[in-house]
Amino acid sequence: MTELRTMTTSAGNPIGDNQNSLSAGERGPLLMQDYQLIEKLAHQNRERIPERVVHAKGWGAFGSLTITNDISKYTKARLFSEVGKRTELLARFSTVAGELGAADAERDVRGFALKFYTEEGNWDLVGNNTPVFFVRDPIKFPDFIHTQKRHPKTNMRSNTAAWDFWSLSPESLHQVTILMSDRGLPTDVRHINGYGSHTYSFINAENKRVWVKFHFKTRQGHKHWTNAQAAAIVGQTRESTQEDLFGSIERGDFPQWRMCVQVMTEAQAEQVTYNPFDLTKVWPHGDFPLIEVGILELNRNPESYFSEVEQAAFSPSNIVPGISFSPDKMLQARVFSYADAHRYRIGTHYEALPVNAARCPVNHYHKDGAMRFTPNMPNSDAYYEPNSFNGPKEDPQFAEPELPLSGSADRYNHRIDNDDYSQPRALFQLFDAAQKERLFGNIAAAMQGVPAFIVERQLAHFNKVHLDYGEGVRAALNNV
Ligand code: NDP
Repeated sequence: MTELRTMTTSAGNPIGDNQNSLSAGERGPLLMQDYQLIEKLAHQNRERIPERVVHAKGWGAFGSLTITNDISKYTKARLFSEVGKRTELLARFSTVAGELGAADAERDVRGFALKFYTEEGNWDLVGNNTPVFFVRDPIKFPDFIHTQKRHPKTNMRSNTAAWDFWSLSPESLHQVTILMSDRGLPTDVRHINGYGSHTYSFINAENKRVWVKFHFKTRQGHKHWTNAQAAAIVGQTRESTQEDLFGSIERGDFPQWRMCVQVMTEAQAEQVTYNPFDLTKVWPHGDFPLIEVGILELNRNPESYFSEVEQAAFSPSNIVPGISFSPDKMLQARVFSYADAHRYRIGTHYEALPVNAARCPVNHYHKDGAMRFTPNMPNSDAYYEPNSFNGPKEDPQFAEPELPLSGSADRYNHRIDNDDYSQPRALFQLFDAAQKERLFGNIAAAMQGVPAFIVERQLAHFNKVHLDYGEGVRAALNNV
């Protein structure tokens, strides 16, 4: 039995009565000196922080990555340094569009964010359950998200906005096809793959760079719901994914994923016919086979959802020596955008919160601001850099190899010479007849209420992927 402890104020002052407020006479009024009451009401008013603009509804768990294959010829990152090495991590999964209280069983991309607590600082891989995305240029991202959120007047989601934007942005076809396929509505997050999606880079001990993509293959198999099944589930529970993930870990049934990478040399990147840094494209497995890295397992539920999942702050800007960025324009924007979102949501010192804190020494010269609660560095005279008082210094061994850049600054039209149809076609051809029928039906359902001219514009894109695709959707629309 745990020791009975005395309740206190947040300043640690013991509380004698938490049932009755302090009043002048039995009928009141109340006294201002009842600080306990004031503190309780004031705290209640501050129990929420802004929800994430995207990926608001999430589910998280702790676990580890254990290395099963030596990839140290590609990267000097210490978490990959030897077979058997184990690194602790936090995973947060999410839907993209729904708000904090949205139902889990909705057709949407699932976020697949990982924070690896390595000895060289945190490595955050902030991915999805899809290997591609709807847009390839971040200047389109805020507009795209507006189409997924509520209409400014009706305050309802708008099929018209979604298909208007998609039909005017054919680079979305690949991701739209995944979203409308079976995998667009998974039963939970144990039964999905994860993808880093962007192209990143690996740097090895000789300071040589290769390009890399990250994959996490579910060992539980894929499971999805049809729209009708999901509607029935949402009628019973809005928390189906939380129940599944939390429940499976509580009963010791720990989900696992096989972590793999695809590697492309800088020379190969010059030769492939597509832009290897385009987030709407995959690297075909036949050309760039998966290389196994390790096993990721989730095995511990958070003790506090708010502290450890709602306040968890993942950012692609968090990289470790041996792993770095690529020219991918979407990645470049996210390197800014995610850390900026956390400073806004949680505060300047969000990375000092326990769930976000690195498990290695953190030595920086950023100074004060709201909620700074870490002490000065050991020598308090070293509060600027360079200094003569033995403060932390840069170490050239961590400098990255030179990245040759070329070209003049311009706003390059990303649609010119870009094939938006072949890869969706390759995916469409993977589907069997029943999968195709469900794809057509899901699209027809999602197009309800959309003006005919927008539907026709989108059908023309589907026809360019495959005539069976466009005709299949048209037939399904006639059957709704
Ligand atoms: P492969 O046949 O080698 O691989 C097919 C991939 O598609 C597998 O990773 C498989 O994942 C995945 N997949 C299977 N069914 C679906 C589905 N219904 N929705 C989404 N993904 C699915 O083919 P290629 O590498 O040549 O790629 C062909 C197409 O496969 C691509 O155009 C792309 O749409 C899709 N794909 C490719 C990936 C890649 O990185 N190359 C990654 C994911 C999808 P699993 O093994 O878990 O079944």
